[in-house]
Amino acid sequence: MSPISYVSTRGQAPELGFADVLLAGLARDGGLYVPDRWPSLTVGALERFATLPYHEVAVEVMWPFVEGSIDRESFTAAVADSYATFDTDEVVPLTDLGDGIWLAELFHGPTLAFKDIALQLVGRLFDHELSRRGEKVTVVGATSGDTGSAAIEALRDRESAEVFILHPAGRVSDVQRRQMTTVDAPNVHNIAVEGTFDDCQDLVKALFADDTFRDTRNLSAVNSINWARVMAQIVYYVTTTCRLGGGAGRPVAFSVPTGNFGNVFAGYGAQRMGTPISQFIVASNRNDILTQFLTTGTMTIGEVHPTLSPSMDIQVSSNLERLLFEIHGRDGLAIAEMMARFRAEGTVSVESGRLDLLAEHWSAARVDDTRTAATIAAVYEQRGVLIDPHTAVGLAAALDLRADPSVPMVVLGTAHPAKFPAAVEAASGVHPQLPARLADLFDRTEHLTTVANDYLAVRGLIEATLDGAR
Ligand SMILES: *Cc1c(COP(=O)(O)O)cnc(C)c1O
Repeated sequence: MSPISYVSTRGQAPELGFADVLLAGLARDGGLYVPDRWPSLTVGALERFATLPYHEVAVEVMWPFVEGSIDRESFTAAVADSYATFDTDEVVPLTDLGDGIWLAELFHGPTLAFKDIALQLVGRLFDHELSRRGEKVTVVGATSGDTGSAAIEALRDRESAEVFILHPAGRVSDVQRRQMTTVDAPNVHNIAVEGTFDDCQDLVKALFADDTFRDTRNLSAVNSINWARVMAQIVYYVTTTCRLGGGAGRPVAFSVPTGNFGNVFAGYGAQRMGTPISQFIVASNRNDILTQFLTTGTMTIGEVHPTLSPSMDIQVSSNLERLLFEIHGRDGLAIAEMMARFRAEGTVSVESGRLDLLAEHWSAARVDDTRTAATIAAVYEQRGVLIDPHTAVGLAAALDLRADPSVPMVVLGTAHPAKFPAAVEAASGVHPQLPARLADLFDRTEHLTTVANDYLAVRGLIEATLDGAR
């Protein structure tokens, strides 16, 4: 069979191979790339995976998606190196929370959130492809916390990219800021903007909309709509299901703390590939557009409310478009029209027949801050396990919506509790300790430049830095 190619969810952009999709991010028609077909994992493969190391399963699961764009040896090395940065050989350990509920700890990477699982690999694949092409890019991103540090760790010291991450000055936690600013690498540049996260995002959008700047500086992004990030996340759904089900095709359920829908869409991909997943619980905080959508078929943009789980404080979940594409029979024009309506009117509905396609496996819950804190307290009291507020949203939703108590329920632990120490301590009375390798985080020197919330000032700073660096 020919290698997998990638099609846009809006049906108008050219089909591309993996390497081009990796570097392009968003499709030219504004859509998101998805594979032209889902490869399948045989029952025999799933049985073997139950006892293989994580990085070996990872290569086997991802290979069909990248085949034709990279040689197997380089890919295998990139995968092995990515997961060697994790502080446990298991990469994603499982903790028993009792009653058939398991915590999948996705936070053992360099920056303590699950984004490392995808970005460690994406950084290496980026570097490999750019070196092969003899190109260099300028990666620009805005962060409210987790993505920035994961992107910085993934791209630090790489010849092929200069990295500029904008964060709102004084508005990210000390741990989050220090994870970004204490990285001492010549290609990493932290910019603290005197404004909000939205201001940072607007500045980044303006940089990308500035054609001359974009082209002369070869701008690039590693944001969550990049297909390669979804692909890397499929792997832990497979490994976890194989381990808990013994690879014998016994089903497993997942509860996923959700923001941009990238994580849970990866679960959908794993299911389409043949992994026996019987239920997806989409867990949201007070920003509940996904709960609205999955329970009523209509979504309406509202205001973003700050919560204890800031990485899920999102109103428009970009990756949902990939699922909409699938439930509309991969009709790109229908999706393009829907998205245009959503942008113009701030609201959109799907026909009940389409929504019915999700009824068997999907459910959604909204968990407020009071319940989040109570959940952190309860699991600490009952099990002695500290969890972060995002993970707590997932656990509370799992307790509410579990369909079958005889099926193992996996709650995805998306961040280490020490990443959100204030919320965890307020709820549990315990101050979560940073892992040993980060214990001196507060003694390290910070590198950052503070700048006014002003487009020309930010662009000028980036240009001056690039001209000095090359
Ligand atoms: C990014 C993030 C999420 C949301 O993940 P999506 O893929 O955007 O749904 C949840 N929890 C934490 C800790 C995160 O950093």
